[in-house]
Amino acid sequence: MRMLDLIAKKRDNLPLSKEEIEFIVKGYTDERIPDYQMSAFLMAVYFNGMTDQESTDLAISMMHSGDTFNLTDIQGIKVDKHSTGGVGDKVTLVLGPLVAACGAKFAKMSGRGLGHTGGTLDKLEAIPGYNIVLEESDFKDQVNKIGIAVIGQSKNITPADKKMYALRDVTATVPSIPLIASSIMSKKLASGADAICLDVKVGNGAFMTDLTEAKKLATLMVQIGKLAGRSVKAILTNMDEPLGFGVGNSIEVIEAIHTLKGNGPKDLESVVLEIGSFLLEDAGIANKEDALVMLKEKIKNGEAFNKLVELVEAQGGDVSYIHQPEKFEKAKNIVPLKASKSGYIESMTTIDIGIAAAYLGAGRETVDGVIDPAVGLVFEKKIGDYVNEGDVIVLIHANDKGLKEAMRTLENAIHIGPKQNDVVLIEGVIV
Ligand code: URA
Repeated sequence: MRMLDLIAKKRDNLPLSKEEIEFIVKGYTDERIPDYQMSAFLMAVYFNGMTDQESTDLAISMMHSGDTFNLTDIQGIKVDKHSTGGVGDKVTLVLGPLVAACGAKFAKMSGRGLGHTGGTLDKLEAIPGYNIVLEESDFKDQVNKIGIAVIGQSKNITPADKKMYALRDVTATVPSIPLIASSIMSKKLASGADAICLDVKVGNGAFMTDLTEAKKLATLMVQIGKLAGRSVKAILTNMDEPLGFGVGNSIEVIEAIHTLKGNGPKDLESVVLEIGSFLLEDAGIANKEDALVMLKEKIKNGEAFNKLVELVEAQGGDVSYIHQPEKFEKAKNIVPLKASKSGYIESMTTIDIGIAAAYLGAGRETVDGVIDPAVGLVFEKKIGDYVNEGDVIVLIHANDKGLKEAMRTLENAIHIGPKQNDVVLIEGVIV
């Protein structure tokens, strides 16, 4: 086989076989195929696309390029979720303990954030003592014992994807549905769960800003999962404003604690319940309707909150912070951003809200950047709310950096006008 011929085949819009795709992925990972040929291939995919089968073969080949997790030592059906990323997305922190309290096995490897806000690991590390590094055997033992573990990825997962993603970044080939879908699914398949729910965020704070494109991505990822023998569903959820009220690391942990106690923001709770009911259904625990009832009951009777306590304790965290969230260190300055005029909050430029939080230190710009767990934003008003001139819209929690830039960015990101708009939270479900 020659890479040159495979590039020509894709250029001429002919489908590639599994063996041909394996040849490309292996050759590129082993550095036998140079960047210039891979770039040409990626651009041909960008223009001509891939069939579902090709995308699946690409995802599986990338999965096999590195280590994979075998979770068969964990009894029962292992469930996982993945979010394509958004502002204020603390779903995992609520969903994990909740579904584990219902008997599902939540064995999750999470990532750190790069860009506007922290990732799940950064949020968990805002809890003093929480250890994100577990040996694989301890990780599995913990899931067997308490039903949940959330750790960082220590293994060399999908090196082919890392290399290809870096190349796509500099060759204008990131926005290709088959390439995005196979990239995400290669990592999800490698982490070993039986049932996966994908939370595809759509809106001006998300990677996918267009609903039609987001649906195509979700449909293809579900298809790849099924062709790879896993149970995969996707929901499309809105990201035209932050999820919940809080953006920032300890701020989001506190909001997750309140949600597990039944006092969280409704939008966050709805997304959690929707994903949770899919996961319980796929784990064979209950049908979707009964699952909803069960999830709500576990919040009401305190078992979901207790499961978070168990998780934090098992991973070395100080559970007194979970019992008394007021213990989390506060930022030195809490500065209100007030409405400059009266009217409805019509819209928000959500990506800029994430950027404002990053200015304060809630996100990192480079992989080794340091996160300040205390800083962030707490919204008092969201889209559809009426404000009088001078009302507080958001409280900015700031330490030593970024207050001015955050303030300026937020002023331009929140739009007040005469229209009372509504946000449709769940924009579609793909099963
Ligand atoms: N996220 C990924 O993991 N891969 C992509 O290609 C795009 C977003």
